Amino acid sequence: MKTLIVNVKRNSLDDGPGIRTVIFFKGCPLSCVWCQNPEAKSPSQEISFNKENCISCKKCFEACEIGAIDFSYKYRIHRDKCNLCGNCIDTCEYDALEFTGKVYDIEILTKLILKDKRFYENSGGGVTLSGGEPTLHITYVNELLKELKKDNIHICLETCGYYNREKFNNLILPYLDLIYFDLKIYDSDLFKKYCKISNKVIFQNFENLIQDKKVEVLPRIPLIPKITATKDNLTVLANYLKCNKIKKIGFLPYNPLWLSKTEYIGIKANYTHSNWLSQNEKKKIKEIFSDFEFRDF
Ligand code: SF4
Ligand code: SF4
Repeated sequence: MKTLIVNVKRNSLDDGPGIRTVIFFKGCPLSCVWCQNPEAKSPSQEISFNKENCISCKKCFEACEIGAIDFSYKYRIHRDKCNLCGNCIDTCEYDALEFTGKVYDIEILTKLILKDKRFYENSGGGVTLSGGEPTLHITYVNELLKELKKDNIHICLETCGYYNREKFNNLILPYLDLIYFDLKIYDSDLFKKYCKISNKVIFQNFENLIQDKKVEVLPRIPLIPKITATKDNLTVLANYLKCNKIKKIGFLPYNPLWLSKTEYIGIKANYTHSNWLSQNEKKKIKEIFSDFEFRDF
């Protein structure tokens, strides 16, 4: 599988300590109905259309030799016809069309990351591997981390926890300084319903990391209304974390703006909740986790 990267975000203050560069890998083994980064879900290349930038000049229509562009179609491009030739992207002068992933040579990516080394050092920051799921690209990540560790860069991994433990322990874990480990739904049937795979491996991997104590692990819970952010799920997760002697946690509050991103890549969202968490919902969540240390949200 070719490793594609959706975005390299410099100067981030939200994805770990200090100033960080965040690498968003493309592809995830889970398929959560609320995925906030839908463009990073598929490991394959996709074409994205942003209608806000489009002036309807129709140059892309003329450039497409196979008739995949359709101005009467809601998502503009018939993805089942499109062969990803890129002619329309080259023609568009308004950045309304683009590919969703890019191949980065390790050397070029390392150089780009090291441009901000001074900021990492002064702020206690570094690099965060995000996605999608970085561990899906284990060989590439291993090569990248070996390069970054030559410059002693602090590395944080954001993971869904679904990975092969042996490969992870050999190729990724030795280079990590911090792991943000997502725990979404405790009940295995509900997890399967909303994320399409079993959560058994995820909880096993989490417990192994906690027991091994080789690296700091911060469990994080995405707060998705009516799915993860229910009283039942949060209560059972809080009890589970207490049993594992966890004192500090993170939250990922729901951001409904992801819904517009599904339109960009031409997919219909099955989960369409469009509100932010209310103050009352937040208050109840904080009460359930009152025994834990967490950043306010
Ligand atoms: S070329 Fe770009 S701006 Fe023109 S119609 Fe196509 S997407 Fe819109
Ligand atoms: S990428 Fe090529 S085939 Fe796909 S819509 Fe654009 S011009 Fe047509």
